[in-house]
Amino acid sequence: MEIEKTLVLIKPEGVQRHLVGKIIQRFEDAGFKIVGMKQCWIDKEFAKKHYTEDIEKRRGKKVREQLINYITEGPVVAMVIEGVESIEGVRKIVGGTEPKNSPPGTIRGDFAHVSFAYADKKNISVKNLIHASGNKQDAEHEIKLWFKNSELHSYKTIQDFFFH
Ligand code: ADP
Repeated sequence: MEIEKTLVLIKPEGVQRHLVGKIIQRFEDAGFKIVGMKQCWIDKEFAKKHYTEDIEKRRGKKVREQLINYITEGPVVAMVIEGVESIEGVRKIVGGTEPKNSPPGTIRGDFAHVSFAYADKKNISVKNLIHASGNKQDAEHEIKLWFKNSELHSYKTIQDFFFH
């Protein structure tokens, strides 16, 4: 059993569509603990530190540029979520990258439906509401980038008393 921390961002269209509460509810329902949370409107320089050159290697230069435009178009809600193997668990709740292929029951499958093909045709990033760290290394980098230590809290919830 490993208690991990992971970074989640509700992307600008999630905030604009008033989905913040519903999205957070999904993580709380599964027993995950929010240990840090804030709203930020980041600039392109900061966005480049979040979407590093790694994304360019995986998805190409164009996708990285589109993503930087997307993530800076309005405020995001950033949070650090803690729980048992939370990196994998949170991504399961989030769903797949392409909403079209993300199954019902996932955030991206329930609140979005667009495809890569549609986004590519419009020359925009695929709008999929949420970011969640992909692995341990990314989670560590992203948490450090978005949160100071003093903004993260250590406390007990009902989960700690009964399940851990
Ligand atoms: P995830 O966010 O599911 O971990 P990636 O890290 O691979 O996925 O990609 C980051 C983001 O880039 C995705 O969430 C999505 O918004 C966007 N994206 C990825 N691939 C494409 C694509 N082919 N066309 C448009 N946007 C894309």
